[in-house]
Amino acid sequence: MNQTKAYAAEAANAPLAPFSFERREVGAHDVLIEILYCGVCHSDVHQARDEWGGSIFPMVPGHEIVGRVVEVGSHVKQFKQGDLAGVGCMVDSCQHCSSCDEGVEQYCEEGFTGTYNGRERETGAPTYGGYASHIVVREEFVLHVSEKLDLARVAPLLCAGITTYSPLRQWKVKAGDRVGVVGLGGLGHMAVKLAAAMGAEVTVFSTSPSKEKDARELGAHKFVVSKDPEAMKAAGNYFDLIINTVSAKIDLTPYLAALRLDGTMVLLGVPPEAPEIHAFNLIAKRRRIAGSLIGGIQETQEMLDFCAEHNIMSDIEMIPMKDINEAYERMVKGDVHYRFVIDLQTL
Ligand code: NAP
Ligand code: ZN
Repeated sequence: MNQTKAYAAEAANAPLAPFSFERREVGAHDVLIEILYCGVCHSDVHQARDEWGGSIFPMVPGHEIVGRVVEVGSHVKQFKQGDLAGVGCMVDSCQHCSSCDEGVEQYCEEGFTGTYNGRERETGAPTYGGYASHIVVREEFVLHVSEKLDLARVAPLLCAGITTYSPLRQWKVKAGDRVGVVGLGGLGHMAVKLAAAMGAEVTVFSTSPSKEKDARELGAHKFVVSKDPEAMKAAGNYFDLIINTVSAKIDLTPYLAALRLDGTMVLLGVPPEAPEIHAFNLIAKRRRIAGSLIGGIQETQEMLDFCAEHNIMSDIEMIPMKDINEAYERMVKGDVHYRFVIDLQTL
């Protein structure tokens, strides 16, 4: 068995602490990866604190993983020892439903297997994520990572990157489109970089006036302080697409009013509480509300290749493993610039 060092939450109200467990043996189709860096997603906080319900404890969070392949199973074709590798939010799916056939495994009809807080399809054993020294993943769910980029800054692309890239592609964002990004955190700052790289005119809506300078450096053309009702009103009837990344319940009304005719707001954030929406705000301009969940494996590879080509990486604050609880507290307060990444050498 593969003895693995990690950090885990033992319960919803417990801080993360050192933990050790055994990964499964490397099967014929598996890749064993030594984890170098793991990004810290707000979904880690939601799940470690059981804010969505149904969390499995003990929990080893982490689904923004980059590392190096140390061993491959006998049938593995795409990876060899020494390769760089990435793992995102999924480690398995049924592989035969219509969603999986279309390459959108995140919408697998049997439900995808989460990198953590999920259950292995064959054994039902809980899955443990990237706040760990190693991970074993079947080849189909391992991504290729370019040697050209700074690995620590690539880690957040595996969730924050693909989660924002996928809706920008799905809604066919092109040069000149007006894209709003609500919330400048991990997902938000990637949405800004990616939308700007696609040629969009990008506006950030933020509760933090202090983030304006950063927003512009990240590629935003405009910045709206969302706590200012006058500024929100002035932004009305303008956007083709609004990407909402906020992790807490907010009033969506002024953002719906900011959409132009046929505009869409895509919800990416998953606040524990449901939003309230009045039909008038939608029917007045045939506006739409949509949601989007991470991205498929093929699209994740496409996003990683796009980022390598355009030299796009996350802006990060590197932390040692022991600082994870403090990082969670800062994230909840919106004090994130713009992704915490754990250096697993410090485990
Ligand atoms: P994050 O780094 O904590 O960023 C969230 C940002 O939202 C904050 O930086 C803050 O930005 C804003 N915000 C936070 N609390 C707020 C409040 N009470 N009112 C208004 N704005 C607030 O989080 P993240 O990792 O980007 O994740 C964001 C959300 O997306 C989480 O709910 C996460 O679970 C979800 N998520 C969804 C998917 C998916 O597939 N759909 C994938 C990953 C994550 P400002 O300071 O700029 O206001
Ligand atoms: Zn995530």
